[in-house]
Amino acid sequence: QAKSSGQGVVCSYKQGLDQRAKESLEIASLLRTAADRDELQLLFQPLIDLRSGQPVAAEALLRWTSAELGPVSPARFIPIAEEAGLIRKLGAWILRTACLSAAAWQSTAPCRVAVNVSSLQLQSPHEFLECIEHALALSELAPTLLELEITEGVLLEDRADIAELLATLDGMGVHLSLDDFGTGYSALSYLRRFPFRVLKIDRSFIAGVLETQADAELTRAIIAMGQGLGLTVLAEGVERPEQADFLRQAGCDLAQGFLYSRPIPIDSFTRLLGSERRALASASG
Ligand code: C2E
Ligand code: MG
Ligand code: MG
Ligand code: MG
Repeated sequence: QAKSSGQGVVCSYKQGLDQRAKESLEIASLLRTAADRDELQLLFQPLIDLRSGQPVAAEALLRWTSAELGPVSPARFIPIAEEAGLIRKLGAWILRTACLSAAAWQSTAPCRVAVNVSSLQLQSPHEFLECIEHALALSELAPTLLELEITEGVLLEDRADIAELLATLDGMGVHLSLDDFGTGYSALSYLRRFPFRVLKIDRSFIAGVLETQADAELTRAIIAMGQGLGLTVLAEGVERPEQADFLRQAGCDLAQGFLYSRPIPIDSFTRLLGSERRALASASG
């Protein structure tokens, strides 16, 4: 029907946009009370040492199950939270919850927690630092057990106060990692300017390493470059054992992906940490 008249196409396209805009407003309004209504949860996905097979950290990934809308993906609601001015409060909740969770699993095994940080949180460096210090004090988690994941798109403007913030965090022992490496704009200049310790290769590269020569070469080159710079290199989205073999041969340090574990609730993650530890103890003695 829409095909026969150009107007129809425009009309249904516009209705689609209106629908999506209305939905965004609804998401923003429901998100405001999501934490208070206990609708938010952090899941944890292990970051695995490719040599020992042991988890060295877990990435905290936010989940929202709205009473009205059901589960909503973070890829959908995080950008809305940013636009609606909700991300700082949400970010503070995420940091507190992640640090409290990591503090709780330290009695099972030492393991860092990696938290995704929105660019907007970094735009107020003073407030952000207070938020970190508050979460660390509340949880009594050592700063060296906290990792912050920053994406390439984030630091675009050349702001001295953000560089200073990152240097301060690094000085405290907080690990900084550059997330989704290879997909952003000015990653190489970020690596020169900011004290990253971890480089996370975007999973779009890893998806192609077995079939596509270019992806394999680029991945090898990124790993070599990261190691030349003294960084820990992690591959995202590892789903197959052959990808892990490729990465191990290329000298990659860490891997994350469904091959090892999907993101799981804290109780399951703590059990996983405990069983890995027991397996290691029985293997070595
Ligand atoms: P990200 O930081 O790159 O997180 C990794 C994403 O890859 C997660 O999606 C994870 O579930 C998914 N993943 C992990 N292993 C595999 C795999 O083997 N195969 C495939 N196909 N996917 C895999 P998720 O949880 O849907 O999160 C999407 C994005 O939303 C994240 O990308 C991050 O940018 C954002 N996000 C999630 N939680 C938070 C948060 O607490 N704060 C902020 N600011 N952003 C968040
Ligand atoms: Mg991440
Ligand atoms: Mg990532
Ligand atoms: Mg990614």
